[in-house]
Amino acid sequence: MSKIINVAIDGPSGAGKSSLAKAISKSLGYIYVDTGALYRSVALYFIRCGISTSDVEKVVSGLANINLNLIYKDGVQNVILNGENVSALIRTNEVSMGASAVSAIPEVREFLLETQRQLARENSVVMDGRDIGTVILPNADVKIFLTADDKKRAERRYEELRQKDPSVTFEEVYEAMVNRDKNDSTRAVAPAIKADDAVLLDNTNLDERQTLERALEIIRDKAGI
Ligand code: C5P
Repeated sequence: MSKIINVAIDGPSGAGKSSLAKAISKSLGYIYVDTGALYRSVALYFIRCGISTSDVEKVVSGLANINLNLIYKDGVQNVILNGENVSALIRTNEVSMGASAVSAIPEVREFLLETQRQLARENSVVMDGRDIGTVILPNADVKIFLTADDKKRAERRYEELRQKDPSVTFEEVYEAMVNRDKNDSTRAVAPAIKADDAVLLDNTNLDERQTLERALEIIRDKAGI
């Protein structure tokens, strides 16, 4: 069996982590693990129950009723919440903000930790999130912190959301993104920051292909593949 390689990709929203991680996984044949989908699914569960995602006490006690699994169909990750495939339901703005709120609760992070580590123990993975290089996989073979300037990231998010909802405005996307990044990077537990040994990759002026090329160079260099 070939050696298991773990690639961690962290960074703020809209930097293109998921596009990059998918492209790397396709190129190297690794499993792509989108950890944000786990936090999003936890948020969806509480939104559906009518429980505020910032009600720490209720969220913590409700975790016992959540069963989450990641399954892979044709290389695509699907997230299963209590037996239901919710992959298509977790990309709304409401769920994004809810995910950011529940992700600041230490018990929620602890609840999702082992699912992530187990996937990385058993498979070569490209895992994207906020704390993969710092907390989940501190010994990852390769760590990349992907970022781009605020306006550029908001433009990308806007283009993506506009396809689903033409009424969305750039200003609201920008504001929601900046708020979410602030929550994520200033929270007390597992803040979204660059690991000391992560390579910073700023793709403000790179397209997807150029970003992939640069990331593959970093991976070859660090993992020796
Ligand atoms: O990456 P994505 O936008 O899907 O993540 C949704 C939210 O989940 C983030 O804003 C962040 O609050 C949280 N998250 C996290 N740690 C991760 C992945 C996501 O806190 N590893």
